[in-house]
Amino acid sequence: MANEKIPYKIYLEEKEMPQSWYNVRADMKKKPAPLLNPGTGKPMTAAELEQVFCKELVAQELNETDRLIPIPEEIRNFYRMYRPSPLVRAYCLEEKLQTPAKIYYKFEGNNTSGSHKLNSAIAQAYYAKKQGLKGVTTETGAGQWGTALSMACSYFGLDCKVYMVKVSYEQKPFRREVMRTYGASVTPSPSTETEVGKRILEQFPGTTGSLGCAISEAVEAAVTHEGYRYVLGSVLSQVLLHQSVIGLETKAALDKYGIKPDIIIGCAGGGSNLGGLISPFMGEKLRGEADYRFIAVEPASCPSLTRGKYLYDFCDTGKVCPLAKMYTLGSGFIPAPNHAGGLRYHGMSSILSELYDQGLMEARSVKQTDVFEAAEAFARVEGILPAPESAHAIRAAIDEALKCKETGEEKTIVFGLTGTGYFDMYAYEKFHDGKMTDYIPTDEELAASIAKVPQL
Ligand SMILES: *Cc1c(COP(=O)(O)O)cnc(C)c1O
Repeated sequence: MANEKIPYKIYLEEKEMPQSWYNVRADMKKKPAPLLNPGTGKPMTAAELEQVFCKELVAQELNETDRLIPIPEEIRNFYRMYRPSPLVRAYCLEEKLQTPAKIYYKFEGNNTSGSHKLNSAIAQAYYAKKQGLKGVTTETGAGQWGTALSMACSYFGLDCKVYMVKVSYEQKPFRREVMRTYGASVTPSPSTETEVGKRILEQFPGTTGSLGCAISEAVEAAVTHEGYRYVLGSVLSQVLLHQSVIGLETKAALDKYGIKPDIIIGCAGGGSNLGGLISPFMGEKLRGEADYRFIAVEPASCPSLTRGKYLYDFCDTGKVCPLAKMYTLGSGFIPAPNHAGGLRYHGMSSILSELYDQGLMEARSVKQTDVFEAAEAFARVEGILPAPESAHAIRAAIDEALKCKETGEEKTIVFGLTGTGYFDMYAYEKFHDGKMTDYIPTDEELAASIAKVPQL
């Protein structure tokens, strides 16, 4: 074994769990661009945002100065049921690859929702409850966010209304049933329940939906129902803040053994797990205390960082949300219904977009079949059957480890293993049957979609 001293799993004790989330914006000299009101073109005020979002979450969304934001005790108690999550040394994968690289992964699939999304869901449900709301509305793509939010809402006794992208609703009936077990109501999107849903159905009859459509419906449902607010599982800065618990635990575990990573890798959909994982390390880089390579991995079918443009765009297809400056493929972009599930969002967190634009982070896109090849190789030696989203990070980690094999460098690689893939067996089946396709949009398709982004 490469290093006898370091255990397979580095656990933290409960008392070592972070007491505060870390807000990376506090250490950014050039801050991410503010959300804009599409009507006035001016930055969204707290009062405007509070019509759609919970009050305390709006305060977090707008907070660019406080480095540490205390985690309320009620949320820490919930975290205690499934955190700290393990940081695993992938000895078996290293052995299999015959690489001198040292590979670690932070596993976030150890809870019923099966992903990191519960970290933010429980925080958002807590603040909604504290505000005295009746319930929340949201969208879900692959289903992980809807599941996490359903769990969080049932814990705090809140009503939960989920608009689920139609293609997933049909492909993943068991996801839907998990949500209903936790008391949520689940509607396939686009639906005829909302005005915006009806409009999208008229314009695109037979559409299988997209995250952008489902967001528009969930926002409309929130603002038209008394005592409800809308909550979002990724993209927003508040979500990255909550997910910083991943990076803080990772750093604490590595510090225990004096390990300093060279490369930190995560898959990127809206950017929340990656942002959360890298935040404390990025903070050190921004303050000039340490240097790391950060790699965002996205699907070739929905390549917002690698092929998108850094522009103000709508966060949703129905254009009811504020404008965010981000790397985007255009809010009208509806990715091919392939299996990048939770990574099919047209834009990217404005924090990550700004860090990428400043050259502080790298990005690459990977093809679906290469991702599943990596997923399977990982499952066979490390035991965990990964979510297809997580497997994007596995792909890049394996590729970096194989480079080390060529050069003989003993780099330390850390990646985020965001979840398990038990609800994705339909995709695994396609892969095994050789029926999986690699849909890559053409330059013309992307240019046409980006051309529709509003001109400011
Ligand atoms: C939602 C999801 C992602 C992608 O979302 P981010 O906000 O980019 O982190 C990745 N992995 C899993 C398992 C997910 O459920």
